[in-house]
Amino acid sequence: MDRNSFYGPVDPARDAGWVDPPARKGFFTDTSICIGCKACEVACKEWNAVPEDGMSLTGMSYDNSVGLGASTWRHVAFIEQPASSGNQESGVRHDESHANLDVLALAGGQGDPSPPPASVDLGMPLPTLPGAGGEDSSVPFRWLMESDVCKHCTHAACLDVCPTGALFRTEFGTVVVQDDICNGCGYCVPACPYGVIERREGPKNDHAVGVAQKCTLCYDRLGEGMEPACAKACPTQSIQFGDLDELRQRADVRVAELVEAGVVDAQLYGHDPADGIGGAGAFFLLLDKPEVYGLPPDPVVTTRALPAMWGRAAMAAGTMLAGAAMAFLGSRR
Ligand code: SF4
Ligand code: SF4
Ligand code: SF4
Repeated sequence: MDRNSFYGPVDPARDAGWVDPPARKGFFTDTSICIGCKACEVACKEWNAVPEDGMSLTGMSYDNSVGLGASTWRHVAFIEQPASSGNQESGVRHDESHANLDVLALAGGQGDPSPPPASVDLGMPLPTLPGAGGEDSSVPFRWLMESDVCKHCTHAACLDVCPTGALFRTEFGTVVVQDDICNGCGYCVPACPYGVIERREGPKNDHAVGVAQKCTLCYDRLGEGMEPACAKACPTQSIQFGDLDELRQRADVRVAELVEAGVVDAQLYGHDPADGIGGAGAFFLLLDKPEVYGLPPDPVVTTRALPAMWGRAAMAAGTMLAGAAMAFLGSRR
């Protein structure tokens, strides 16, 4: 299970030597329905005993885990934009029959509700509160939220460079680290085109300190026929788990629906088997360009050039040997 092709569309489990593997498993993360609740981050930590990674906010958004790392196998990104989502009109009421309802009074059972204030301060940094000055004054605004994770690449450079076999391809087509085999060399860290995998730092009483860590796609749960903890916990089904081929079809339908509804920038990321990593096992529906979410727009498996490099190195070595042999033979005449 230690081979891996360097490019082109393949079934990675078969490519790695599994005989008659099950259908490849993966994630389709539909960011258009993510509400930023972070249940996925919490479920991942709970199930996998991943330690906390800091409780401070960045000061720029509601993001406190900042990015993927050794102790953040799921990361929910929050991106704030002065833009509308599709045909959405921020702060504009269209149903006047509900315009004067005081939902707090109703929730408290106080019967006849008093008129609501003209606007509500949601703490958002807008020059004008939504709807405060009528329809013309509404300010386009949206949050983009995206639950990021290891992409479980078809061609995984982290796995290609691992000298101990600690990283391996599972029968489900996913990429998993074996803690007890990793020697902490760190070769996998710069090899990942997404900056996902990292060695854990911290007190020595954690057996995983110094060891490369990342999402396993809950390999232990998959083995028991269960879905990954993050997908199980997601209340909106933003994280969808299943057979990768079926997820790709579902994603095509969903992106077409969104474009039809006016969300013209809706796009899939990582679903194309012809891309630079042979397609991701965990792919995404984004509402803006990948760079907006901090994702590389055109990732390429970093070991792609290895066969050509080894070929040239072998040619150079052969040329040197031939030169040395000719020099030796010439000196004997
Ligand atoms: S995203 Fe990075 S860590 Fe995950 S499989 Fe791909 S190369 Fe490896
Ligand atoms: S699949 Fe499992 S390990 Fe990976 S992010 Fe989800 S909960 Fe964490
Ligand atoms: S992906 Fe699901 S669980 Fe995670 S933040 Fe979004 S809605 Fe919540």
